[in-house]
Amino acid sequence: MKTGAVIIGASHAGTQAAAALRQSGWQDPITLVSNEGCLPYHRPPLSKGFLSGQQGEDQILLRGEGFYRDQQITLLNGREVQQILPDRQTVEVDGATLPYEALILATGAVPRRLSLPGSGLDNILMLRTLADSRLLKEHLRDAERIVIVGGGFIGLEVAATAAKAGKAVTVIEAQDRLIARALPPLLSGYFRDLHVQNGVAIRLNARLDRFEGEGGRVSHVLLAGGERLAADLVLVGVGSDANCSLTAQAGLAMEAGGILVDAYCATSAASIYAVGDCAAQLNTHTGAVMRVESVQNATDQARALAAHLTDKPLPARGANWFWSDQYAAKLQMAGIVREGCDGLLRGDPQSGEFTFLQMMDSRLVAAFSVNRAGDHMAARKLIASRARLDRTMAIDPAVPLVKAVVEMEKA
Ligand SMILES: Cc1cc2nc3c(=O)[nH]c(=O)nc-3n(C[C@H](O)[C@H](O)[C@H](O)COP(=O)(O)OP(=O)(O)OC[C@H]3O[C@@H](n4cnc5c(N)ncnc54)[C@H](O)[C@@H]3O)c2cc1C
Repeated sequence: MKTGAVIIGASHAGTQAAAALRQSGWQDPITLVSNEGCLPYHRPPLSKGFLSGQQGEDQILLRGEGFYRDQQITLLNGREVQQILPDRQTVEVDGATLPYEALILATGAVPRRLSLPGSGLDNILMLRTLADSRLLKEHLRDAERIVIVGGGFIGLEVAATAAKAGKAVTVIEAQDRLIARALPPLLSGYFRDLHVQNGVAIRLNARLDRFEGEGGRVSHVLLAGGERLAADLVLVGVGSDANCSLTAQAGLAMEAGGILVDAYCATSAASIYAVGDCAAQLNTHTGAVMRVESVQNATDQARALAAHLTDKPLPARGANWFWSDQYAAKLQMAGIVREGCDGLLRGDPQSGEFTFLQMMDSRLVAAFSVNRAGDHMAARKLIASRARLDRTMAIDPAVPLVKAVVEMEKA
């Protein structure tokens, strides 16, 4: 009997890998193991529509229950893989042994924890899972003063949701600007102003010292300079690390903080693959081995792996893309922020609709669009085709971005 594919983790990467395997004609069994006790769901709404109450749990499912049955995908829900035994091509799942022909690690990422005094107090929360978001939503209802540690995407999306609900919100960021890892300074400044206009206090260059509590619950956040901020609720959003708890014992090669994979998502061990947030792969646009934490990366890698395992041609890899919703601003990013680029501004940030283009040797390498979905869709194609742009046309928001192309390397 064929042992089939075993997929560890049933989120964006794992569920897409299962679906894409079936779509590509994989006939053998597929077992999807999830340690979350619910049907696989979209993670982005956890800090946006689900947290604000605009979307219910049934509206954020990746696939309906019938999908797994119809596609003959065995979903082992609420079950955890404890160990991989590569020599025997098996995994241990809660005391049972599961053999595999192909093992796909889609174990994602885990949020970084703080180890400051008081970090263990109640009402200091993190956000990664549906259970986390349910808890945060519940606590947000009664809290009035919310301190968010970390001015990255998750922290700022939660800040926007809480501010819209009328809460007093303070964001503490250790760097001198917001979302510094993913955005150029112009966009960091735009989002700082947007939050300030919505009543959020932003503390840049701020160092946390400790948390203080009363009755086991957090009551104050202390900064290194001695400042004491009152808080009914603290959300810690200081980034995440690849979930590699199974990989050390399996002896898989690691790089850039993730499980090293090749263009086909194969790890250093035979018949073991990794996709999504846990995987580190050579990015053909930046030339660096990196982990990319986005839904697009998770689904694209899963599709590429399914093609490889079913002997189909690899789908063409497009540009990386990502989005974030804060207040009425829909930020859509294409490409990856780079050092040493020059920037072109298309449109006026004051109008709430603009695109910031990052150029390298006249080629478009990244584009950050706020409420300009057309620019974003065009930029994805132009970055993938390594297009050169005419600068004068590119900065004119009345001219479609594709009209600014002077040369394309790939069709
Ligand atoms: C609040 C939030 C908002 C986000 N917003 C956006 C956004 O707007 N746009 C965007 O592109 N991206 C966004 N992201 C990032 C995006 O959700 C991730 O890049 C994506 O979820 C990665 O998918 P994944 O399948 O690789 O990993 P994950 O989604 O982390 O899933 C991994 C799964 O594996 C399970 N697992 C781990 N170990 C085991 C084990 N041993 N046994 C069984 N199961 C296991 C985990 O519990 C988890 O369910 C957001 C993330 C968060 C947390």
